[in-house]
Amino acid sequence: MTADSTVPNALKLVKYDIPDSAKTYKPNAPFIAKVVANERLTEEGTQVDIRNIVFDLTDSGIQYIEGQSIGIIPPGTQADGRPHRVRLYSIASARTGEYGCSQTVTLCVKRVLFQDEQGVEVYGIASNFLCNLNVGETAAIMGPTGRTFFLPADDNVNLLMVAAGTGIAPFRAFIQRIYRDKKTWNGQVRLFYGVRNAMESAYMNSRNDDIAQYMSHDTFEAFQAFSHVEPSRKVYVQDQIASNKDEVCAIIAEGNFSFYLCGMKAMEQGVEDVLRGHFGEQWEAMRTRFKAEGRWNIETY
Ligand code: FAD
Repeated sequence: MTADSTVPNALKLVKYDIPDSAKTYKPNAPFIAKVVANERLTEEGTQVDIRNIVFDLTDSGIQYIEGQSIGIIPPGTQADGRPHRVRLYSIASARTGEYGCSQTVTLCVKRVLFQDEQGVEVYGIASNFLCNLNVGETAAIMGPTGRTFFLPADDNVNLLMVAAGTGIAPFRAFIQRIYRDKKTWNGQVRLFYGVRNAMESAYMNSRNDDIAQYMSHDTFEAFQAFSHVEPSRKVYVQDQIASNKDEVCAIIAEGNFSFYLCGMKAMEQGVEDVLRGHFGEQWEAMRTRFKAEGRWNIETY
């Protein structure tokens, strides 16, 4: 028996669902999407290159919803001649799309570039392909994929969102849906976002305020954790959650919430530790129940 089947349907959180008419593309028959925009999100003072990339979906039949991902098939082949494997990217736009045009989809992509043990620079295949795309060029895309990391249908549910780095992507989509499109959300919305410094804070810095602009809403608060500002004082998302533990734990204890965590896998443990520290032995059972109810949503990579 799965954890899911132990909870009566009546107790499960009702979420938005994918329209029946939505079309899905497979890796062997992808949709070829043209780039409409490709803009850097991180400020000039940092080498970290995170980009907001918008694709045209006209005539694709794709109807995604917030929380889904798109697959990218990089051009070319691997060393053994096989096609490159698909890489997934969280959709960063609400279903109404970028510029309010539902025929677009937005991705938030970090250029993967690092030095291997011999000091040789290694460029991530898909992320560099995407970050280097010019307007008018194309990418083969598949999907959308994902069936659970969705917003509740009820506007009164409190939302806890936890992200690091490009894990912010689905939350930009959620926040657009809530504050730009619906405008009727009554639940409290709390975003905890971990990056190295303010320059790398996607959608909340001087280049782009797509999330920051909604901070004046009564229901919305965003807490940023900067890990590389003061060497002696590294602040991570779990530290920000710990600082706001009373409110976060009260929201969880009340039960009318949906929790989302997206980005680096390493975040999960730290966040869990804070919650276990508060709720004690009962935490594991609580989390199991929340998962079964659809309130506990994790997407890490
Ligand atoms: P690859 O060519 O696949 O190379 C990456 C390899 O380099 C990996 O083996 C990795 O372990 C290694 N590596 C990476 N950095 C370092 C380092 N500093 N030092 C040593 N080794 C390193 N990515 C986003 O940018 N935005 C998103 O919104 C996003 N959403 C995702 C959603 C899901 C559900 C999943 C599963 C993944 C998501 N990703 C996202 C990650 C994305 O799919 C790719 O894995 C990422 O872009 C790297 O792909 P690449 O082809 O550029 O790198």
